[in-house]
This record gives sequence, C-alpha cells and structure tokens, in this order.
Amino acid sequence: MKKYDYLIVGSGLYGSTFACMAARSGKKCLVIDKRSQTGGNLYCENVEGINVHKYGAHIFHTSNKEVWDFVNSIVEFNRYTNSPVANYKGKLYNLPFNMNTFYQMWGLTTPETALAKIEEQKREAEELMCAEGVSEPRNLEEQALLLVGRDIYEKLIKGYTEKQWGRKCTELPAFIIKRLPVRLVFDNNYFNDKYQGIPIGGYNKLIEGLLKDAEVMPDTDFFHDRERWMNIADKIVFTGKIDEFYSYCFGKLEYRTVRFEEEVLSTPNYQGNAVVNYTEATVPYTRIIEHKHFESFGAEVYDNPYTVISREYSTEWSEGMEPYYPVNDTRNSQLYQQYKELADMEENIIFGGRLAEYKYYDMAPIVESVFKHFND
Ligand code: FAD
Ligand code: UDP
Repeated sequence: MKKYDYLIVGSGLYGSTFACMAARSGKKCLVIDKRSQTGGNLYCENVEGINVHKYGAHIFHTSNKEVWDFVNSIVEFNRYTNSPVANYKGKLYNLPFNMNTFYQMWGLTTPETALAKIEEQKREAEELMCAEGVSEPRNLEEQALLLVGRDIYEKLIKGYTEKQWGRKCTELPAFIIKRLPVRLVFDNNYFNDKYQGIPIGGYNKLIEGLLKDAEVMPDTDFFHDRERWMNIADKIVFTGKIDEFYSYCFGKLEYRTVRFEEEVLSTPNYQGNAVVNYTEATVPYTRIIEHKHFESFGAEVYDNPYTVISREYSTEWSEGMEPYYPVNDTRNSQLYQQYKELADMEENIIFGGRLAEYKYYDMAPIVESVFKHFND
C-alpha cells in the first residue's frame, strides 16, 4: 500500500486543480513544488496592499460555463474586463482594433467610413500577394497587412511583435496575429469570451481553495530525491518540464521568457489602466502593468496612496531563467514529439500542464484539460 493515491509534482493551476478534483473523488494527494510558494505562474505577492502578479499579468477568461462555475465555486471573481491601451510615440490608441482605434488613427466616426478605409489599406497587401502569385499570407507581416493595412501594422503591431518575439515580422508565422479581433463597434473588451475576471482577493485565494484538502510541501524538488517520490503514491501527476523528466536524453526544449522590472511608486494612479502596451521598437519594454487596476475600480484606486508597476522585457531564454513560452518551431516540436512518445508509454504517470505538454495553455483550457482527465 502506497501512502498516497497521487503525488502531484507542481502546484500550478494544473496540479492544484487536479488535487481539488482528486480530493472531491475521495483520493489522497501530496503536492510538492520546488518553489517556496504555491500557484505556479499565478502566484501573487502582496506589495503595499496590492496583489502583484509575480510571473506576469493573469486575466481569467472563458466561454465554458462549467469552468467558470467551477473557479467561482472556489472563489468569487470580480468584473475586471481587459481593455489594454497602446502607446505609440506618446499617442494613445485603444485595443483591440475597434471603432475607438479607427477614430484615433484616422479621425473616422462611422463603421462605414472605417470599413472603407481598412479595405483601401488592405488593397496594398492583396495586390502584392496577387503579383507574387500567393493566395495565403506567408508570414505575420502579410497577415497583418491583410487584416488591418499598413497604418495600424506600422504603429501598433510591428514594433510590439518584433520586441515580443525577438524576430522580424516577416520571419514569424501568420497565425500569431489571427487572434487579434477587428471590430466595427466601440468596444475595447480585449476578449471575445463570455466570462472574464480576477479572483476577488487575488489568485492565491483560488490556489489555496483548490489545495485545501491536499497535503502540500513547498521547497521540494522532485529531482532531488526522485527515487523516494517515484514510490510514494499509486500515480504521479507531473507538471514540470518533460525534457528534464527524461534527463534531456534527446536534447533541451527551448522557451522565450519575460523579465519583469518592478517598481513601487508613491502615487495612487500611475497610468489609469492595468495594461499599457508600448508599440514602438525604440522603447525596450513591451508593456507596463499597473497591478492595482486588476482589483480596484473607480474611486477605490485612490484608497491606496501607492501603486506597483512592472515593465515587461521579452527575452531569449537560457538555463536558470523561467521557461514561459514554448517555441513552436520545427526543431522544438519534433523534439517534444520524441519525449511524448516516452511519456505515452508510462502507465502510472500523467503528464499535464504547460511544461509537461510543452504547450502554451491559457488558464481556462488548463482547467478543461483536468476535467477531461476525470471525465474520461
Ligand atoms: P505552472 O504555473 O508553470 O506550474 C508548474 C509548477 O510546477 C510550478 O509551480 C513549478 O515550480 C513546479 N515544478 C516544476 N518542476 C518541478 C520539480 N522538478 N519539482 C517540483 N515542482 C516543480 N493565461 C490566461 O488564461 N490568462 C492570462 O492573462 C495569462 N497570462 C500569462 C502571462 C504570462 C507571462 C505567461 C507565461 C502565461 C500566462 N497565462 C495566462 C498562462 C498561464 O500562466 C498558464 O495557463 C498556467 O500557469 C499553467 O499552469 P501549469 O500548472 O501548467 O504551469
Ligand atoms: N500584438 C500587437 N500589438 C499589441 C498587442 C498584440 O502587435 O499591442 C500582437 C503580437 O504579435 C502578439 C499577438 O498580437 O504576439 C497576440 O497578442 P496577445 O496579447 O493576444 O497575446 P499574448 O501577448 O497574450 O501572447
């Protein structure tokens, strides 16, 4: 008889949701994490009374009612709606691209004139592609020009994207930009999802609620005592890096990472919005997050005389840095497939979450994937 039904390696959203679902079906779980805190990338630190998203700003959004009801059964979510603003050379534009943006960009006030302008701008890319005999955009630049035309591409897309990905738009895949909505209405809501928000009291409340029936051991790295952990439970849920699990036997998977420069300011309201993107190439950071705006609205902002901001610098990943975004190129995809073949042969190990599946996952799909595991 093993001591636990499940050993869960990693207390991020995948591991914590798994622990909650397992406990609800009467299973005994031990959750270990190499970090001193739980929550993985959702972890927030309280600085001057403000929940600071230490591993990048997180906004929960989904159209899946089951997922929304589940997370709200753990902690109630607030009404935060993501509406980032773009700053290009000191001028502000609303995102995603909508009637407000078209007004700011071209002074146009009706959907009809905005549509005509976009069509006129798109023609350049259509003609170019036609002349070269291609029917589908070959890269992100062509895709952006086809979607919104040159003015928006040059002011709001090119600089930001090249900083974020560290590559030229002509060398990036078109699909990255397809996610950005274009709307002929005055609507600055970044997401199309039915539900969105931030847990009231912060993400740590969500994680604490998910883990409340599990035994939790922070500061515990699976690889420091692999033998012991492999034998402590009937099944293992592994949410760490899959290549590390297999001792990098085929080689190392690569990531992009983000460096956060955090500052506490003696002002109650620095930028008036949670997210401001800096879309010109010469500003070295991609965006500034002002954390208090995720949780305080209207006059509440002034209840706290301080604010905390984080400047985000997108950088190439190297050993010792946080692995954030998987690199979806051919080399890394093939490498991951080799590791996955080994993982598929394991009988008592479940590989889940963004590091073990080497996949960019938003939070809601993480919860869905745990649900799927328990429903199958
Ligand atoms: P993680 O959160 O990475 O958890 C893995 C855990 O495993 C970590 O705590 C780690 O310490 C632990 N671990 C790893 N190896 C070991 C080991 N050897 N031993 C013990 N423990 C180990 N999603 C959204 O829906 N909305 C957003 O706005 C959003 N913003 C994001 C911004 C950034 C910068 C990033 C990178 C991601 C963002 N996401 C967002 C995605 C979100 O972070 C993920 O969906 C979520 O964190 C995935 O959870 P996870 O449990 O798979 O991974
Ligand atoms: N993007 C842009 N300008 C912006 C915001 C986004 O050009 O102000 C582009 C950029 O290429 C980015 C893509 O749109 O990679 C998707 O942006 P989103 O914010 O959805 O993705 P995330 O940053 O969360 O990966």
